Amino acid sequence: CGIVGYIGYREAYPIIIKGLHRLEYRGYDSAGIALLDKDLKVYKKAGKVSVLEDFVKQLPLKSTVGMGHTRWATHGAPSDRNSHPHSSGNRKLTIIHNGIIENYGVIKETLIAKGHIFLSDTDTEVLIHLVEDIQKETGLELREAVRVALNTVIGAYAIVIMSQDEPDLLIAARKGSPMVIGVGKGEYFVASDATPIVEYTKNVIYLNDNEIAFITREELLVKNIDNTIQTPYIQELDLKL
Ligand code: GLU
Repeated sequence: CGIVGYIGYREAYPIIIKGLHRLEYRGYDSAGIALLDKDLKVYKKAGKVSVLEDFVKQLPLKSTVGMGHTRWATHGAPSDRNSHPHSSGNRKLTIIHNGIIENYGVIKETLIAKGHIFLSDTDTEVLIHLVEDIQKETGLELREAVRVALNTVIGAYAIVIMSQDEPDLLIAARKGSPMVIGVGKGEYFVASDATPIVEYTKNVIYLNDNEIAFITREELLVKNIDNTIQTPYIQELDLKL
């Protein structure tokens, strides 16, 4: 339902939690975050963003890259384990997702037959296991594996993916669900609408359907899922909070 992500030089956690609060107006049943500080750390809870905040209060949350999600359950009842982010079997990849992967059932069956073990009832978890499986089967690097996976799924999505093996990268993509990228100096923001971004930067890119953004601190590359490079249009927000 709501997405916020950050990569840059500031502490990611406060930006993400504040962003999740700004997205609360959309309605949701669960919230979760992923942070990368050598290891990938994922924390998620059913309930309000404040429940998640209480849960992580005593934990070390140092990281300059991370993402957060508020969930509006479509597949799988609201619960801690169905909350996002969802991770791959090797726990190295993690995803947040708004929308619905319609063909998740057949993909899940195929992956289970290959030995994948699923920890949730969501459609979302299937997509991140699919990326892992494609990498394993083909040896493709993560960016390509995500692109191939997105060509396999049917449905609507705004997603953000992080990898422990590529800690300086956020991958964001959309089809049918909104995704905004905030462009700063040495930092980028992603969100499902501009409200979590506007206090940091006025320069934004609205991703188009079928676009994937590969975001590092230094650069942003946008491709279409057919692999053509896109020229993103940076526009200035005129939004008063
Ligand atoms: N279909 C996903 C789920 O049920 C995402 C729902 C959402 O957009 O929050 O977990």
